Amino acid sequence: MKFGGTSVANIDRISRAAKRVALEVAKGHDVIVIVSAMAGETNKLVGFVGETAPLYDAREYDAVTSSGENVTAGLMALRLQEMDIPARSWQGWQVPVQTNSAHGAARIEAIPTDNILRKFGEGMRVAVVAGFQGISPEGRITTLGRGGSDTTAVAFAAAFDAVRCDIYTDVDGVYTTDPRICDKARKLDRIAFEEMLELASLGAKVLQTRSVELAMRYKVRLRVLSSFEEPSESAGTLVCDEEDIMESNVVSGIAHSRDEAKMTLISVADRPGIAAAIFTPLAEAGVNVDMIVQNISEDGRTDMTFSCPTDQVMRAEQAMRAAKDAGAINFHDLVADTGVCKISVVGIGMRSHAGVAAQMFRALASEGINIKVITTSEIKISVLIDRRYMELAVQALHDTFGLDKAA
Ligand code: ADP
Ligand code: ASP
Ligand code: MG
Repeated sequence: MKFGGTSVANIDRISRAAKRVALEVAKGHDVIVIVSAMAGETNKLVGFVGETAPLYDAREYDAVTSSGENVTAGLMALRLQEMDIPARSWQGWQVPVQTNSAHGAARIEAIPTDNILRKFGEGMRVAVVAGFQGISPEGRITTLGRGGSDTTAVAFAAAFDAVRCDIYTDVDGVYTTDPRICDKARKLDRIAFEEMLELASLGAKVLQTRSVELAMRYKVRLRVLSSFEEPSESAGTLVCDEEDIMESNVVSGIAHSRDEAKMTLISVADRPGIAAAIFTPLAEAGVNVDMIVQNISEDGRTDMTFSCPTDQVMRAEQAMRAAKDAGAINFHDLVADTGVCKISVVGIGMRSHAGVAAQMFRALASEGINIKVITTSEIKISVLIDRRYMELAVQALHDTFGLDKAA
């Protein structure tokens, strides 16, 4: 059972969450509870780090930002003990949750089960584990990237071969789109792993992308549900195999990602190796390039456009100017547009349906929304548009694909 930030936002909420855990204990289950930091806490800690050191040491970033989860793990264990349920807390390093050394975005490599299983054997009923954190081979504290407690939860479910992995959050399941920006958003009873994976990686933060990958690989029975509603067996959304979904719309969901930037190198020489000469230094500078468009060339010169997260624009600019100074590339101008967002429609039905892209573009056109960049894959279409049209675009697409109605 994983409780997100809003579900442990204060002592009262922690008590409510503990009562849910108690229900499962009463059914005879041993429970591993994964907790996030109290709502807003990680943001606050990230802010402290940035204020102290703009170009921070990622190991100390992890030391600071992992601490929010330590508080809620201890409080949850205390609360359960108050209810006469044998429980104790574990920080990541105590389990130990072994990760690689990629501080700030570490990957879990192993979760030895013996420590926790021994305690269950001695009569403990609930292991409360601080989410989001682990320990590197060098013995330093790591964190798994924002939203990482979801991944902690799924990784534990896989390691312990759990009956279920329930993700408790502030919405009662996975919706056709973010219910905060579209009031017609409809809760899905089921969603396929692949669709959830795309939605998560395209910006639907209800589950961290890596958690969905792990659930898919290890066949974890993954459910998303609200910690505020009455518990029931059929509550929430089940993330499951495609075969277990009877009927679905061609498009099952729409994701948005607010913090995108579009960068264009104006007039670069169109020659073999130019893309490598641009994208190698960007990769080396740690810029996560997403979409790429190369214009047709005129007189041997072309424009190259790519998108990346807004907070990496400075790094991208530095890398491109350095490459120009070193003579590796040549361009007339570098234009950054930080006022864009990415909207994506996702659905496994697209594999067998033609015309989804055309329908998407017509819906945007009829709202007067200009598309700046387009990319597609087998089950998704993404566009970059002006950020001020984000809500409008999501709502228009939700309407055109009839997502407010079940298939
Ligand atoms: P937690 O703190 O519990 O991990 P998050 O804030 O990380 O919660 O994720 C839940 C939020 O995800 C919701 O409040 C909602 O605004 C957002 N969200 C985005 N897309 C979706 C979607 N398709 N379905 C449900 N929630 C979504
Ligand atoms: N507290 C961490 C974050 O806000 C991890 C999580 O809540 O999943 O990113
Ligand atoms: Mg989250």
